[in-house]
Amino acid sequence: MKAFAALKQRLLEVDDLQGAANVLRWDQATYMPPGGAPARGRQTAALARLAHERLVDAETGHLLDGAAKETASLPFDSDEASLVRVARRSWEQAVRIPAPLVSEFHEHTAASYQAWTEARPQSDFEAVRPTLERTLELSRRMAECFPGYDHIADPLIDFFDYGTKAADVKRLFADLRARLVPLVRAIASRPLADDACLHQPAPEAEQLAFGLEVIRDFGYDFHRGRQDKTPHPFMTKFSLGDVRITTRVRENEFTDSFYSTLHECGHALYEQGINLSYEGTPMATGASSGVHESQSRLWENQVGRSHGFWEHYHPRLERAFPRQMQGVSVDTIYRAVNRVQRSLIRTEADEVTYNLHVMLRFGLELDLLEGKLAVKDLARAWRERFEADFGIPVPDDRRGVLQDVHWFSGPIGGVFQGYTLGNILSAQFHGCAVKAHPGIPDDVRRGEFGVLRGWLRENVHRHGAKFTASELVERVTGGELSIEPYLDYLWGKYRPLYGLREEERQGAGVA
Ligand code: ZN
Repeated sequence: MKAFAALKQRLLEVDDLQGAANVLRWDQATYMPPGGAPARGRQTAALARLAHERLVDAETGHLLDGAAKETASLPFDSDEASLVRVARRSWEQAVRIPAPLVSEFHEHTAASYQAWTEARPQSDFEAVRPTLERTLELSRRMAECFPGYDHIADPLIDFFDYGTKAADVKRLFADLRARLVPLVRAIASRPLADDACLHQPAPEAEQLAFGLEVIRDFGYDFHRGRQDKTPHPFMTKFSLGDVRITTRVRENEFTDSFYSTLHECGHALYEQGINLSYEGTPMATGASSGVHESQSRLWENQVGRSHGFWEHYHPRLERAFPRQMQGVSVDTIYRAVNRVQRSLIRTEADEVTYNLHVMLRFGLELDLLEGKLAVKDLARAWRERFEADFGIPVPDDRRGVLQDVHWFSGPIGGVFQGYTLGNILSAQFHGCAVKAHPGIPDDVRRGEFGVLRGWLRENVHRHGAKFTASELVERVTGGELSIEPYLDYLWGKYRPLYGLREEERQGAGVA
């Protein structure tokens, strides 16, 4: 196993460089004074370049060949054979894209991100139009490095949800949309839930402390993690022993900090649960964007927006915010955190309408990549499609096409589908966990999460990226990704909440 050992050593160096770059990015987002920005951009780019060079080096290819021979007789799911398989995949993806295109893309996205931060507050789409045209061209060129694709978005999707095809996502989204629209319509015909209790001014320190108390109960390991504040919440990892999360706090918006904390904790529990022997290898990460998002959404929604959860935490919330929570019952909180309303901003959307936001973006991406839609017509297309889907006009591009950072910090295509795949999978995984341990809902009612976390660790977390998403889903659920458990979850929850009737579920099937 000489080649295998040398391969592992080389992958560890690549991982160390990437980990160091992550520390710099985390620092930039949390504590760095603004004056550090120019040098920090250079420093992270230098580390990324070194990591890339080390990975695509011809020697890595030789070591992969040697290690493949050494592990050929081992079973598919052995750690050694899996490591060679996973490492080869990331190596092949990395070597296909010529280094000049990688740097061109990095330089362009740095400028494009800057342009977006200035154009968004001004609602000035024209200011970023040329930038975005170039992003589209570069995204296409990246995809062209992988000839033989069925759809030009497929190679881009492979970076985030490996093995998922644009055609599969299109079909899946069409089915889901046809079944979601009747639910959205039915809820929209009922009175809006009152969520005034969530908009009482509450001091930052108390909000943060309450979120931390809950994720400590969830099992987030503070010995291997910490939470800091950033404008946009995220999770990052420097090693399996250091998995950090961030949040932001708004005084009048309790759910902003609270649910972003639960969400990022879900991502972090995944990373903290990975088999420690995978440290420093490409297996020490999530299986895909979709699977990662399934973990964050599971803790945020299936757990954190359940009635049982609030039965347990309502008295604690009252103690933490006695003035704000005066006379607010468990049911009031439960209804408030599950208020459904068609709204402009994806990141603030409820779990019912959220996927329609994702579908809108995914559809536009495909049209752009296919050449059916020109960037100059993107803002208009956004407004038209949004109004058709949501029934509300888009007042400006700031709250329309310019709201998300994704197209200004990465390629056009490949990212958005992961959010909806995650929602769908969260219901499948949660359903399997409850089937294996029917006491889980009662545990949640008592604020006990060990059995659920243990099941997720055993079945999902510990494997890291050893299996692809579809291999993992097959192992865990015994079948394929399916929208039925997700729709059952949504109807099961919102039917009683909004007094919906069964006929409304069976009703209109077209969007
Ligand atoms: Zn997430």
